[in-house]
Amino acid sequence: MHFDKIVKYTAIILFSTIATHCTTMKKADLIVFNGKIYTVDSSFSIASAMAVSDGKIVAIGSDNAILNSYFSSKKIDLKGKFVYPGFIDPHSHFTGYAEYLATADLTGAKSYTEMVSRLKEHAEKYPSEWIIGRGWDQNLWKDKKMPTNEELNKAFPNKPAFLFRVDGHAALVNDAALQTAGITNTSHIEGGEIPVANGKPTGILLDNAIELVSEHIPPVAKEIREKLVKIAEQNCFSVGLTTVTDAGIDYQTLKFLESEFSENKLSIRIYAMLTHTKENIDSVIKKGPFHTSNLYVSAIKLFADGALGSRGAKLQEPYSDMPNTTGIWTTSEKELNETCQLAYQTGFQVNTHCIGDAACHLVLTTYGRYLKGKNDRRWRIEHAQVVAPDDFSLFGKYSIIPSIQTTHATSDMGWAGERLGSRIKYAYAYKDLLEQNGWLPNGSDFPVEDINPLYGYYAGVARKSPTHPSGTPFQPENAIDKTAALKAMTIWAAKANFMDKYVGSLEVGKFADFVILPTDLIESFSDTIPKVKILATVVGGKVVFDKL
Ligand SMILES: [Zn+2]
Repeated sequence: MHFDKIVKYTAIILFSTIATHCTTMKKADLIVFNGKIYTVDSSFSIASAMAVSDGKIVAIGSDNAILNSYFSSKKIDLKGKFVYPGFIDPHSHFTGYAEYLATADLTGAKSYTEMVSRLKEHAEKYPSEWIIGRGWDQNLWKDKKMPTNEELNKAFPNKPAFLFRVDGHAALVNDAALQTAGITNTSHIEGGEIPVANGKPTGILLDNAIELVSEHIPPVAKEIREKLVKIAEQNCFSVGLTTVTDAGIDYQTLKFLESEFSENKLSIRIYAMLTHTKENIDSVIKKGPFHTSNLYVSAIKLFADGALGSRGAKLQEPYSDMPNTTGIWTTSEKELNETCQLAYQTGFQVNTHCIGDAACHLVLTTYGRYLKGKNDRRWRIEHAQVVAPDDFSLFGKYSIIPSIQTTHATSDMGWAGERLGSRIKYAYAYKDLLEQNGWLPNGSDFPVEDINPLYGYYAGVARKSPTHPSGTPFQPENAIDKTAALKAMTIWAAKANFMDKYVGSLEVGKFADFVILPTDLIESFSDTIPKVKILATVVGGKVVFDKL
């Protein structure tokens, strides 16, 4: 009897211990601990541990608080490493970048000859119907003159060749491509130019003229496209991006992305801006914004003007280095107004590409007529590169978001002054723009710039080229501070994408999208930041890139 009592008593104690354990310790899918976690919440608080379940953050705090409340079969000991919310690129071209991977990379080519030899090398590796290249910039060549297509014709006499300039607002094509598109010395198009010399087109196409040829390029087959977006996604994860933007896609691309997500072929999050085509308007925009956990659709993308490098940006006064032009309008005022009206009614954002001060002025004042005063519609000016001094305050007055790319400043700093003269003082003025609303998003516009968000972080703070950090800073008075630069690629980027309820900071209830870095971006800022390698990237609690 005595023995039975002991057994019974022990059983009761054991049972109650297990019961107590179960009520206080909760199961999590993943616990990370022993690190410095920048939560980027509203008080910019620091934590050391985090518990994740069902893809979302369920608790965040000190090691003691988390490890005494949660248990998990999957734990990551951070060993003092640094955690940030997953990086967000609020202005990039994700599917464009994927296809870009299949085109010859002409970025940084120091001469026409180098460009042609890179094309030949690429053409040997990748069989294709067309020679496609991207990224040339005549500003890097000796004479800095816009090229003509003679050398290109010699290299590729029969195969059409189409070469995008670095800014995407000009293209160089060979005669075979011109013939395919039926372009002659008398061809014209609204919102674009087809320069002619010696009685024939030079092969250069500006802005809307580009489409006359690009529409003849055969579409990439679906299986190839799927492979390319997978590679693009993995490249993004490797630099810590967990959300990217597709700034201006057509209906077919939207459908492609929807099918990739529904078949679980992609796990990155995408904020897609739609072009204002009839198909997008009738099939999507008129029904209002929507989102899934991965795909967020709430914006219409417009282009007011071209780019500064190719002198397509619309300026109020002529270009300082070409006094007979002020640039090119690429969307009519009528279309701009109709789109604003539609967006206002359907609850969509309007995100308009504006580089020149005339473009910024027109779009800011047009937005203002609909928005009237302070609001939370988050309509955006993409780039906001050259802003007239009196127009800065319009951003604050109408709560219009300047969507900036700090690497554009450091990429353009060598020649932008020639285009703008004294106006350069009001160009790439990111600190002045930040002051208008107290927040702004910073993206890369990849593939125009490198996909690495740390390049943008560094360029915003140091105002120096991420690839040549030993250079002189460009207008350092317009640098943004480290905290602002980190927010601009996390919580403010999420806000600009209407995704801040779900991502952008590490808080309970949000998706567990985070990155692990070996470096304290805030406390140890130096010229080595652009070289920092990501240790791990996690999307929805799942490790998608692992170099830990
Ligand atoms: Zn863009």
